[in-house]
Amino acid sequence: MAIRKVLKYGEPSLREPSKEVHKVSRKISDLVRDLLDTMYAQNGVGLAAPQIGENVRVFVIDVSTNNEPLNPLVFINPKIIKKSGAIISNEGCLSFPEAYTNVKRYKNVMIKALNEHGKSFVMEAKDGTLLARAIQHENDHLDGILFIDHCMNRFETEEVLKKYKLPDLDVDKLIDEKELEEELNKND
Ligand code: ZN
Repeated sequence: MAIRKVLKYGEPSLREPSKEVHKVSRKISDLVRDLLDTMYAQNGVGLAAPQIGENVRVFVIDVSTNNEPLNPLVFINPKIIKKSGAIISNEGCLSFPEAYTNVKRYKNVMIKALNEHGKSFVMEAKDGTLLARAIQHENDHLDGILFIDHCMNRFETEEVLKKYKLPDLDVDKLIDEKELEEELNKND
C-alpha cells in the first residue's frame, strides 16, 4: 500500500475524537495496511489513524524486537475494559519527532477490539510491558489525547517540547488521574 505522512503535534486533527468504524470494509483494510507500512517505515511501535489524518477508531502496534519476526496487531473500535496498577513510562510518539518524556500509565490493561478481519478479541497486557503502555498511548490518540497530557512533570515536558521546536504544552489538556497518582505514591 503506501507510506503516509505522519502529522506532527500542532495539527488540529490530532486533538479531534475519532469516529467508530461501522464496517471493516476494503477502505478500512487499506487504512490498516497504510498504518502498518508507515509505522514500519518510521520504526515505530504503534500508530493510530488520526496520526495519518484519518479520524477513525483504528490503531496498529508491533512490539516485536529486531531479531523476532514481525507481529502486527490491529485494533479497530478498541475499548479498554480493565485497568490497574501504575507505572512511569518514558514515551515518545511519531507525531513528536525525537521528543521523549515521562508519563503516568496503568500497569495492566485489558482491551477489547475487532481485528483486521472484523473479528472481536480481548487482549490482556500486564506488568507495564511495552505492549501495555503502547495500547494506552495509541488508544488515547482516538480520543484526541496525547502522551504529553499524562506527563509526570509539566516543566520537564515543556523543556523537551521547546528543545525539539514543537508547540507548547496545552495546559488545559493535562490529565489529572487521582487513581494513578495514588498508585504511584504507594510504590514509593
Ligand atoms: Zn503517539
